[in-house]
Amino acid sequence: MKKDIHPKYHTITATCACGNSFEIGSILPELKVEICSACHPFFTGKQKLIDTAGRIEKFRRRYAKHYETKNNA
Ligand SMILES: [Zn+2]
Repeated sequence: MKKDIHPKYHTITATCACGNSFEIGSILPELKVEICSACHPFFTGKQKLIDTAGRIEKFRRRYAKHYETKNNA
């Protein structure tokens, strides 16, 4: 068995786009999230639009390129 191959898991403060912050366990030095239990519609019962514009487009472009490459090959 190898020793010391696991990244350090510690408690960090995650910051949400809504301004809420909470402690979680992570291997990351910090974490920023766009939605949390304080602002998620499921928990708030309200519909709230989070600005993630561009992300879906970015994703589509990436995969369009991927498929193009595949078809040309
Ligand atoms: Zn939040």
